[in-house]
Amino acid sequence: MEIAENVHRVDDTSGSNCILLLDKNIAVVDTGNPGNAQTIVDYVKSIGRKPEEIKNIILTHFHHDHSGGAQELHNLTGASITAHKGEILKDNILRTGTEGGRPPFWYRWTFGLATALSVSRNSNHDSRRVVFEKTEVHQTVEDNEVLPYLGGLQILHTPGHTPGSICLYLAKHKILFLGDSVINNVDRLSRPLTWASSNRKLLDESLTSLRNIDAEIGICGHGPILEDDLMNKLRGMTDRPYNIPTWQIAIKNYQMIKKFRQTNNNKGEWKGSESR
Ligand SMILES: [Zn+2]
Ligand SMILES: [Zn+2]
Repeated sequence: MEIAENVHRVDDTSGSNCILLLDKNIAVVDTGNPGNAQTIVDYVKSIGRKPEEIKNIILTHFHHDHSGGAQELHNLTGASITAHKGEILKDNILRTGTEGGRPPFWYRWTFGLATALSVSRNSNHDSRRVVFEKTEVHQTVEDNEVLPYLGGLQILHTPGHTPGSICLYLAKHKILFLGDSVINNVDRLSRPLTWASSNRKLLDESLTSLRNIDAEIGICGHGPILEDDLMNKLRGMTDRPYNIPTWQIAIKNYQMIKKFRQTNNNKGEWKGSESR
């Protein structure tokens, strides 16, 4: 699906949105769940481009629903995997979330859901076990670095959801990629869950840093594209205090996933009154 000139969302992937930036080279922003790589390659072919033109896989953060297809896509196309240095462990391996003990319940839960989806999508899938696979990172990026896509793709380091979460700003198109730093609930925006609730302050500082960006199109990690009144909606989040308990955020996120699965291509109806 074309979002703007030379910016496409790959149809029929699972997990996060997978976005293509079509310049002389092609960059993919997030790959979604394991099993998506072939779908991405097929889409690239369907618009008359060659898979080997994919040179960069840019990950907004390490979570499996964004990075799960990255290693596969690298293996298929040779594209290098790019992430913020906050998302990598030693030996340039992407965080898996298992370092330092068991991941939080919500991460294990979404991982289980992703595995179930990938099993149901792919009958050749040989295991129902949840496997946290290793992904190598070939290039790290830092705050304010600009990658050479579509007139310049600016990296904005927005820690909180994860230590190395990034947003991406395509100034020429006025497009802001928000990763999971903002959750699109279709009828409102909300803050995502953080690994530890102590990171919420960091997240709010990151969201505050986005307030004055000149963007008109917002692409969240999940859900439909935001086109109407984007920046006022974004600012609406940090206009309000962040004082609800984690379990309530978990329920809101769960409702979002349920809703999103029914309204994948539906722009939704913006209620406007509430952004948390
Ligand atoms: Zn995430
Ligand atoms: Zn996500």
